[in-house]
Amino acid sequence: MDIIDKIGKTATNTCRITVNKTNKIAQKTKLRMHINECKSQIEEIYNAIGKKVYEKHVREENIDIKKELKKECEKIDKLSQEIENSIEHILMLKDMKKCPKCFSEIMIYYNFCPVCGKKQNDDKPRNEQIIEKLENEDISNDNQNEAEIVEEEKKNND
Ligand SMILES: [Zn+2]
Repeated sequence: MDIIDKIGKTATNTCRITVNKTNKIAQKTKLRMHINECKSQIEEIYNAIGKKVYEKHVREENIDIKKELKKECEKIDKLSQEIENSIEHILMLKDMKKCPKCFSEIMIYYNFCPVCGKKQNDDKPRNEQIIEKLENEDISNDNQNEAEIVEEEKKNND
């Protein structure tokens, strides 16, 4: 494990803090990439929808594209939700959250929004839900690294 070799075997605690910090940065980068991915997928769907609508116009046929459009729109809904969740997760990694009323970015431990005064306690379970959901998705790769490092630490302590 390169990181451990560089920092030195005695600095276990410092090492763990560094790793957690690195993990957070890596997670943020991954989330941002995921957001961009979702955005370009949405663009593609917009194009597909536009094409379908135009084809219908050109052919002047009596094709019913409502069902197809509904399917495409539902894909966009899903992607938009994923983007929203990723944004919230990035905020959480920065120890921040969005006020559910005015959408200001505020510190996660605030009980009241400093902008609009909305009480914040209610949405804690939702934040935890999102973390759980996201950790079960592709971001879980980062946990592997951490597990390896813990193993490494055990070996060094022996
Ligand atoms: Zn607010």
